[in-house]
Amino acid sequence: MIGKIIKGISGFYYVESEQTIYECKARGIFRNRNEKPLVGDFVEFKIVSEDDKKGNIERILDRKSLLKRPEVSNVDQALIVFSSIDPFPDIHLLNRFLVSMEYAKVKPYICINKDDLKKEENIPKIFKSTPYKVLILSVKENRGLSDLKELLNGKTTALSGPSGVGKSSIINKISGKELMEVGDISRKIKRGKNTTRHTFLITLWENTYILDTPGFLNLDVPDIEKEDLQYLFPEFNEFIGQCRFRGCLHKKEPNCAIKEAAFEGKIAEERYDDYVVFLDEILGRKKF
Ligand code: GDP
Ligand code: ZN
Repeated sequence: MIGKIIKGISGFYYVESEQTIYECKARGIFRNRNEKPLVGDFVEFKIVSEDDKKGNIERILDRKSLLKRPEVSNVDQALIVFSSIDPFPDIHLLNRFLVSMEYAKVKPYICINKDDLKKEENIPKIFKSTPYKVLILSVKENRGLSDLKELLNGKTTALSGPSGVGKSSIINKISGKELMEVGDISRKIKRGKNTTRHTFLITLWENTYILDTPGFLNLDVPDIEKEDLQYLFPEFNEFIGQCRFRGCLHKKEPNCAIKEAAFEGKIAEERYDDYVVFLDEILGRKKF
């Protein structure tokens, strides 16, 4: 049998296959080979008991991708959800998220919910010159959800975004199930503090999964060389190599093509400014 690991708790792996979840153990060969099954893995497993839904994992199929924190395999794409109001979107946080997904080579999508309360005009404008798609939603008025459904279909998507923006509402609405708890922020924060959270996938429908983890929001600027940051801003690409100085970091150097593009509005100011903030973070790191 082939299935997908949707959860792993103290040596047990919960493998979903044909709408059934099997509690599986991993065979000793994995330990010997220093290999560990991960949430997200597609695995070959043998059923030990059909009555008790128990099995043994025999083999891990090749991984398409691997996220580090948390460690999850085969994530196809990432969705960051903000709301236009209550809470207001934080563009710096968004840029951090995008940089971190570029680094992980996971394709990010931006989603703005609560369009019924307020129209968000800034973010679509800022991201017009980037390859990032911005989806506008209102769960309340049932708008934008079919596009989102299509985007998620058949994929494993890492879901991220601040508390209170409507992530749970979105997931429940598009799945037609009560998969996540909708509620006021304070209660959810309290609950989050009191429980140890395991990484797990939520099954939306066939072959379609959501990775929901607040731990995902470890948004330190990746541990990279200062020259590599520019490549994590995809809209910079067409201007790279046109600066006067080789090795230009696009900060204080004269005749910088990136700065000129930002000045002319070909690169959004809000993106360029965060590039400089992140660059300073990298420059300020101690190297031992
Ligand atoms: P989460 O913390 O991101 O999972 O957010 P929730 O799904 O729990 O939603 C937080 C609050 O926002 C709840 O009171 C929802 O009813 C409300 N909410 C969610 N989506 C919308 C929307 O599209 N419009 C409006 N006006 N409220 C929404
Ligand atoms: Zn430059």
